[in-house]
Amino acid sequence: MYTRRFIISSLAGLLGSAAVPAWAQGRQVPVPARKPVPSAPKAPPRAPAIVILDPGHGGRDPGAIGVTGTEEKDVTLSICQSIRQALAGRSDIKVFLTRDRDSYIPLPSRVAFAHDKHADLFISIHADAAPNRSARGLSAYTRADKATDDFARRLADRENQVDAIYGFDAGATDKQTAAILIDLARRHGHNASLAAKRRIVTGVGHRVQLLENPMRAANFAVLRSPALPSVLIETGFLSNPQDEKILRNAKSRADLARYLADQIAPVAMDLREA
Ligand SMILES: [Zn+2]
Repeated sequence: MYTRRFIISSLAGLLGSAAVPAWAQGRQVPVPARKPVPSAPKAPPRAPAIVILDPGHGGRDPGAIGVTGTEEKDVTLSICQSIRQALAGRSDIKVFLTRDRDSYIPLPSRVAFAHDKHADLFISIHADAAPNRSARGLSAYTRADKATDDFARRLADRENQVDAIYGFDAGATDKQTAAILIDLARRHGHNASLAAKRRIVTGVGHRVQLLENPMRAANFAVLRSPALPSVLIETGFLSNPQDEKILRNAKSRADLARYLADQIAPVAMDLREA
């Protein structure tokens, strides 16, 4: 069984670390100094799992606007800040937000930020508009070239329009081994993304309303980092009056954030082991 870190380090050995993106090089594990007298082996302190929360939209891009004027960019930031707060007491998880105020961050910069932080898990939070006003409830997306349905495809197209596409590029190499390792990293990332989506949706589904077929896939630009487990969560639809009512209420937003944090934590723990 190849773990993510094994694949990444093999890739670094093959291509030279300069050719492997910083995010993919794995975190430095402190090596304990040699002692002249043998003593009982002490486990090195484990690095915390790095979770990136990505509040959708921001600044000049408001995202969806609800029937009573709620802006998606404010809802997504508030939910991400509450998730971070819910996880703040844990020493085994470290949370970073791609933005912490009302600012415009291009999609590639959000992914690059996750790479710089050596992320184990990337969670993008949204609350878009659905073409059908009656559509409501939470759903989650993983990346797929081919969307699960027409709505998913259009949703991803719209999100992606805000700027250019970020692609994984390990540097030009014709070495077959590199191709195999990249493929392994990609497969590992994809499987981990699917598992994360399943766990989050199933766990949160006991507490909140879910959209029909809540586990979806589409070609979102923020999910295009194949080796990094990534999930985009549509917390609800601002085009639906009931969903908007929930999402504009500070207390229900905080509850939703706590339910999400309860699921994100074990997913991050599993990925830290991987
Ligand atoms: Zn959105």
